[in-house]
Amino acid sequence: MEKYASASELILHRKPERPVLCARPHAAARAARWFVRNFDGDVAYAYKANSSVFLLGALYGAGIRHFDVASLPELEDAATIPGTELHFMHPVKSRGAISRAYELGVRSFALDGEDELARIVEATSGPDGRARDLQLFVRVAVPAINSLIPLEHKFGVSGASAARLLVKTRQVAHSLGLTFHVGSQTTTPDAFVSAFKALHDLIVEAGVVIDRIDVGGGFPARYPNSVPDDLSKFISVIDAELENLPVREDVRLMCEPGRVLVAEAESLIVRVDARRGSNLFINDGGYGVLFDAAHLGFVFPARLISRDVGSDAPMSGFELWGPTCDSIDHMPGPFLLPSSIEEGDYIEICNIGAYGRALATGFNGYGTYDEAILLDEPMLSMFERDEEDRASDVAV
Ligand SMILES: *Cc1c(COP(=O)(O)O)cnc(C)c1O
Repeated sequence: MEKYASASELILHRKPERPVLCARPHAAARAARWFVRNFDGDVAYAYKANSSVFLLGALYGAGIRHFDVASLPELEDAATIPGTELHFMHPVKSRGAISRAYELGVRSFALDGEDELARIVEATSGPDGRARDLQLFVRVAVPAINSLIPLEHKFGVSGASAARLLVKTRQVAHSLGLTFHVGSQTTTPDAFVSAFKALHDLIVEAGVVIDRIDVGGGFPARYPNSVPDDLSKFISVIDAELENLPVREDVRLMCEPGRVLVAEAESLIVRVDARRGSNLFINDGGYGVLFDAAHLGFVFPARLISRDVGSDAPMSGFELWGPTCDSIDHMPGPFLLPSSIEEGDYIEICNIGAYGRALATGFNGYGTYDEAILLDEPMLSMFERDEEDRASDVAV
């Protein structure tokens, strides 16, 4: 993999025909270090956000040893990483997937219904009866507050059926946990306050001993149109809420960050193939890495990298159009770029590391990328440079 000091350095040397996916592994490592240091529990990376080997390697190097996987292919992939603990946190799984996971050493499973509890118990039973070492997490429905992508409609149990499920799960679980997801890109910690309130009421109603609390993902990244609270605020809210929960003294905490660990760690270089007024036609789009910009209103930070127009050049808002023939292949933005932008220019679209690469399709013959590693900093960051960053400056 070729390394460049920056995206403009890459364009000085190459005029790529295809879009280029650029990894900044140091940004993923810094995010992971921050979580491992500041979160008082297990940090399980949500594998689906980005499974690039460069980023996985950086996360592992920074101390991530837990992975939240959602499918059998993800699990079989992650199982090749040595010395890790995998958590199969999709609440609905086939019997085949459950028993294969158990065979591969997975003991940690999420569920949100009695049917799933039965599937887990049956698929992990052996000739000596049911498994005695299951770590089961009941997924609780919690309200999404200030989240860009609510996740509470599909999964999660609440009310009397949640209490019933908790009692039944306690009977077969070696270790019993509660889990929830406040929704992706949750910009304030308020959602965690209401989630803990839901857990509190549920534990009191069910009257069972809880061994583990998994606060899920949802931790935010920075985008031009979404400026979240400091991550330390999320951590203090979670710590304070946990104090008030009727759980065992030595309860073990876990989180499943996806977006926040990798958002800053990749960017995309695209070429402007045509300009029509404030519309730029580029060589990747909503069927590629820019799904969230096309369908969920994400605005990513972007910059012109093929020409130096000076730092005080006038800027304008642009809409982006992808390369497929489909009219929904449109990223309304607006993306702020120099007003003089023209056909043939290259643009770096930053902070697309979360769910960018992961969502790209091959529609219309697109969806293949050149790849490179960049050594400079992402355009927007949630994290301050730390000791390790400064040490690697000296090493370079
Ligand atoms: C997607 C997902 C995550 C990661 O969510 P982010 O918003 O990217 O942090 C964590 N846990 C579960 C169960 C998920 O489905």
